[in-house]
Amino acid sequence: MAVSTDFSVAIAGAGLSGLCLAQYLMRAGIDVHVYERDPGPFVRKQGYRIILDRYGLEALRESLPRPLYRLALATGDEPGGHLRFTDSRLRDAFTIAFKDEPHATRQVDRLTLRSILMSGLDGRIHYHKAAVAVDGGGPAGPRLRFNDGGAAAATVVVGADGVGSALRAQLMPDTDPANTPMAGIYGRSPLRRNGESVIPDALRTSGVLAIADRPGLAFFFTSMRFGESPREAFARLAPGSYAPTGDDYVMWGLLLRQEEVPDGVRGDLLALRDLATRMSTDFHPLIRRLVATAELDATVLNLFAAGRRPQRWAVPRATMMGDAVHVMPPFGAHGGNTALRDAALLGNKLVEARASGMPVEEAIAGYQDEMVPYAFHAVDSAAELMRRLTGGAAVPHWVLTRVLPRLHRVTVPEA
Ligand SMILES: Cc1cc2nc3c(=O)[nH]c(=O)nc-3n(C[C@H](O)[C@H](O)[C@H](O)COP(=O)(O)OP(=O)(O)OC[C@H]3O[C@@H](n4cnc5c(N)ncnc54)[C@H](O)[C@@H]3O)c2cc1C
Repeated sequence: MAVSTDFSVAIAGAGLSGLCLAQYLMRAGIDVHVYERDPGPFVRKQGYRIILDRYGLEALRESLPRPLYRLALATGDEPGGHLRFTDSRLRDAFTIAFKDEPHATRQVDRLTLRSILMSGLDGRIHYHKAAVAVDGGGPAGPRLRFNDGGAAAATVVVGADGVGSALRAQLMPDTDPANTPMAGIYGRSPLRRNGESVIPDALRTSGVLAIADRPGLAFFFTSMRFGESPREAFARLAPGSYAPTGDDYVMWGLLLRQEEVPDGVRGDLLALRDLATRMSTDFHPLIRRLVATAELDATVLNLFAAGRRPQRWAVPRATMMGDAVHVMPPFGAHGGNTALRDAALLGNKLVEARASGMPVEEAIAGYQDEMVPYAFHAVDSAAELMRRLTGGAAVPHWVLTRVLPRLHRVTVPEA
């Protein structure tokens, strides 16, 4: 479709939501540009998978050209699967089954998803452009300003610059995320050793949250198996786009209290992995092996935070999406899905406004009025789930780690 320049959108941040919105607007022929702080597309290891739920998948289906949506499904893991809650020795407490339908829930590799979201946006993603502020507007419309002194004028400016947003203080004053007591050390380990899967067949399609005897310590892991090799699927459905290597892997996360994370381990990969090794000593040997075989440069520390409801939006014709507004602890896996949902919703409102001649401020207000309730419902339930699974609430913890596992047979014998 031809791109018209009477209506333009400038997005700060080429993460999940920023790219998804850019895809949505491109499909509708809107002039969109994305400004990213990183110097290039794949400079950071984002070696983890993401579970897309029906909101995330629906947002992708609405935003992406058909072949790219098919590419996301083709390279994703098989549909369905389980989430198991166990004790530290992997004895089942209870299990949740996901719907075995292609569009219900799907695990995809995050790097592959980002590459899909970048496809077709050539010349529209500008790297090394750290946004610092938005000039207010007036009749000429807002301008997104960068740390190199440059600026981009547009009909609408969107902040999609993630949890550490540089634009949040200006666009949504007094909403810096609240800290939580919990943190996660994330890692990635090869799925196969000497040709054999390190994950036993009983857990082939399961994510597992193993909860330690003492509150505030747990270990999550899941395997990511590419449905089709990204190289082949990209060649078929998005020729010319970057296809990440598709080696299957296990993604894991050690969940611990922030007070147990010593100062100075952030950015020190060896120290982070040592901490994960120390904290997982009492877990099942399978878990200890995952930590021991982790790829060092894919190890990441994340201090969990929870976004605060915006009370006012300060700059007309500018708004925000994703973690910049509503970061949440990773319990329930809703952060990325909510970010994608925002992108499709905002895209829809902007495209409708352009078609109908509705003032763009009204379209943006409509997006904000719909987004805040569902996004902060997700923040609240993620925080509540975190409290229940890792907090000091003695009875649920005791039931999960002492009572229920005794009722089930051993799922993974300790070799
Ligand atoms: C290990 C892990 C596992 C996860 N698993 C899941 C899951 O299973 N399901 C789920 O729903 N969510 C998951 N999440 C959460 C999910 O990744 C985030 O919620 C999601 O990425 C948020 O998207 P976003 O577009 O808001 O921000 P991001 O994807 O973080 O993108 C923000 C972008 O903005 C750029 N940027 C930052 N500052 C500036 C600036 N000043 N100017 C320009 N650009 C800037 C950043 O470099 C980045 O590219 C997981 C997170 C982690 C860490």
